[in-house]
Formats: sequence, C-alpha cells, structure tokens
Amino acid sequence: MQIRNPRNGRYDYTLEVDSAEQVSHKASTLRANQKEWLTNGTDHRIEVLLKLAATIEEKKDELFDQLSIDTGRRKISHIEIEGVIGLIRGRCYSVKYLLGSEETRTSVTNPTVQIKQERVPYHVVGVISPWNFPMLLALIDTVPALLAGCTVLLKPSEVTPRFMDPLDDCIHQVPGLSDVLSIVRGGAESGKAVVDNSDAICFTGSVATGKKIGARCAERFIPAFLELGGKDPAIILADADIDITTDAVIRSCAGATGQACQSLERLYVHKDIYSQFLKVLTEKVNATTLNSDYEKGGTLGPLIFEKQADTIVAQLEDAISKGAKIHTGGQVENINGGLWLKPTIVTGVDHTMDLMTEETFGPVLPVMAFENVEEAIELANDSIYGLSASVFGANEEMACQVASQIDAGGISINDASLTNQVFDAEKNSFKESGLNGSRMGADGFLRFFRKKALLIQRGRASDIHTQDEEV
Ligand code: NAD
Repeated sequence: MQIRNPRNGRYDYTLEVDSAEQVSHKASTLRANQKEWLTNGTDHRIEVLLKLAATIEEKKDELFDQLSIDTGRRKISHIEIEGVIGLIRGRCYSVKYLLGSEETRTSVTNPTVQIKQERVPYHVVGVISPWNFPMLLALIDTVPALLAGCTVLLKPSEVTPRFMDPLDDCIHQVPGLSDVLSIVRGGAESGKAVVDNSDAICFTGSVATGKKIGARCAERFIPAFLELGGKDPAIILADADIDITTDAVIRSCAGATGQACQSLERLYVHKDIYSQFLKVLTEKVNATTLNSDYEKGGTLGPLIFEKQADTIVAQLEDAISKGAKIHTGGQVENINGGLWLKPTIVTGVDHTMDLMTEETFGPVLPVMAFENVEEAIELANDSIYGLSASVFGANEEMACQVASQIDAGGISINDASLTNQVFDAEKNSFKESGLNGSRMGADGFLRFFRKKALLIQRGRASDIHTQDEEV
C-alpha cells in the first residue's frame, strides 16, 4: 500500500501488507504461546511490560520521527509517546490491586459450599485501531490484555503505519514479548483476518466499521469491545464562566485539529449569554494559528486523512446551503500539499444539517442558542451517538443534574474532553458510540477475563430424593 504524508500530500511510504494466511499463522503462534505466558504469572508479565515501557523510553526519538510523519504533529506526538509510557506503567501498577484476593468464600445461598473464583483470560485478543492517535490507541487495549495473560494480534491503522517498525523493534528487544504480541500490517482485509483468528476483539474506529466487526464477531460468537465515533455536545448554562468555557471549548473542538473521538462537536449556549459567548469565542478562535510551518510555531496540524477533509467540506457545504453562517475559517486550504482547516465557527445551524448530526472529526464549532435547560438536554440527546459530553455552569449541582440527563458515557463538568486525561473512571459508550465493558478504570483490565467458579461442596452432596413429591 502506498501511504500519504499528511504534511505534503506525497505518497512517500510503502506498507507491506500481511495476507490472511500470514495473519492466521501469527495467530496460531500466539495461541501456542499463550499457556506459558499465563502460567509464568502476573509478576512476570508486569516485568515484561515494564521493560517495554523502558525500551520505548530509550527509543522514543526513533518512534517520534515516524509517528510525527504519520500524523504531521510534533508536540502532540511527544505527548502521545509519553502517554503510552505512562499507560503501560500505570496499568502495571494497578494490576495486582485489581486482581484482589483469591481466597475462597462461603456461599450465602448454600453455606456448605465454598466458592473459589478463577479468572480465565482469552487466548488471543485482536486489537484493531484507528489513525488519529495511532500509537496510543494501538496500545490502550493491548497492554491490559497482555497483563491479563492474553496474547495480542495488533492491527494498527494503515493510514498512519510508519510508527509500527520502531514499535516492533521495541517489542523484539524485550525478551519473550514478540512471542505474545504480533503486529499485523494492512487495511480492512488484514483487519478481517484478525477478527477471524481471535477469541475477542477490541476495536477503536468508526461506527460503520464497528458495526461490520460487531456482526462478524456475533457470527463467530466472540465478544466485541467497540469504541466508536461521537458527536459530543456541550451545554453551556446561563451562569457559565465565559472566559473559562471558551478556553475549554476551543481546546476540545480544535485540539489535535478536531481529530479526536471525544472532541466537542456541538455547542448549545443559553440565549442570555449567547451573544457574549460568540463574541469571546470568535476573538479567541481568531487568535489560533496553523502550524503549517513548524519553524514559525502555531497550534493546529494538518488533517491527517484526505477522505476526512472531504467529509468536513461536504458537511460545511450542506450547512451553508441550509442557511448556516461561517464566522471563522471555513475553507480547507492546501498548503504545500497538506490539507489544513482553521477552527471554523458556524451559527444558524439546526439538526436538519449533517454538521449537527454526523461526526465531523475536524476543528469545527457549530453554535446554537437554547431557551431553557429541557430544550438543551433534548438537543444534546437528539443524536445516534453517546460517547461523551460537557456541561458548563457556576452552579455545580445544577450542572451535574443536567449531566445526569445526557445519554453519554463520560460527561465533563466545567471542562471538556476530560476522558482523555482521566483514565481511572469507568465509562461505557452509549448508543452507537460503542458496545461492551469500559475501556477505562478497573473494567478496562478485568474485561479480558472470563469468570470461572469452582463450587466446592464441603457438606454431603444431596441425592435424587430431595425431589420426591410429597404424599
Ligand atoms: P475506521 O473504522 O475506518 O478504521 C479503523 C480500523 O479498522 C483501521 O485499522 C482499519 O484498517 C480497520 N478496518 C476497516 N475495515 C475493517 C473491517 N471490515 N474489518 C476489520 N478491520 C477493518 O476508522 P478510522 O477512520 O481509522 O478512525 C476514525 C474513527 O475512530 C472516528 O469515527 C473516531 O471517532 C473513532 N475513534 C473512536 C475512539 C473511541 O475511543 N471511542 C477513539 C479514537 C477514534
């Protein structure tokens, strides 16, 4: 596969794709190695994963060189690599505490029976990840799955594949790790082969692909942990601090050029502060800059995926044709072959427009006024998505009451996108934004086990006559 460079639009990298047979072979090897990985114990797995963190730290310059070409970002790539190191160490630290005691206990419903709980990890977990944070999202489920005693078949996105070689080098430098963690290279076909050769799937990506993978997993009768797209709303109440709110909102909508699943994509502002909010928002957005020339600094990187630019343009055109007004940005610019969009404030929007109902995945801030809280909640919930959301308001109790009524898994109060900073809160993705256990918190680790109960009878086993009819 020929791979595009997001900064200059050139196809300057060739990805060697794994065939279905190669994926199947990798899976068989992992399957054969899983028993030893499990019986070596938790301490051994922690030791191996901590060595991976140390190796990534040692080789972070090489990883950075490739990851930053993949994404066209420098500062965010540094943060992403540090985030991965922190993720591995954090998971290693918490594993023992999460596993808890293995003591047997007496059954409440049958006190002569002792219950011994065991946890049985899946043998091969398939991890399929997207391009927007290529390395972090490749490892976010991989690390807890490995710690649980699973082996992992990992297929990162074909859109941003350059970081895979240095990551593979890191994996091979840690003794024993490449026996239980295998990278698969390629696109949809290789992804399908991963689904067909795994015992459980962790997928991060679009709703459309998530549905296909969910359907295939249902056919194969294996669990699918799906983390999909969003159209996150923010409700900005009448007493919200406009300065703080606009700062948080711009960071969330336009940070990483809006290419984050938990980016805010719809802003509902109380009518009493709408004009002032829009004025301050526009001033601050006008002060943000592109980093199209690294040497001159700037904040917003390029749009990574060419097709995403088409989606953004189509949504803006649809909104304009239905009466929306663009206040800032609005034009995807081709700068030296890369595609760029300045943060784009749009008003005059409503829910007949794709811009308010479909995922945009770009730095676009559509703003709509609301009359009362009930209307705001109704608008926020008028979506097929339910990933995350924000509520801003001086009265925290009121803001929390509003948050409780939003159909989404992670709600930030007086901030935005906190789910990308806080990893110890469990949250599900609601509606079409995902399916099955929380990726964050304790469940993010415990979901890789099936629970087994050993039921030990210490009394006398009863006989068939306990079922004799009364005469
Ligand atoms: P995508 O669905 O196009 O692709 C994701 C991955 O699936 C890629 O590795 C791709 O090769 C693979 N794939 C494609 N078709 C497949 C198939 N039929 N079978 C198996 N694998 C297949 O998504 P994308 O464009 O790479 O990523 C952007 C999307 O990811 C956005 O919708 C974004 O919201 C979402 N996302 C969600 C989260 C979250 O935590 N909820 C985080 C980041 C991104």
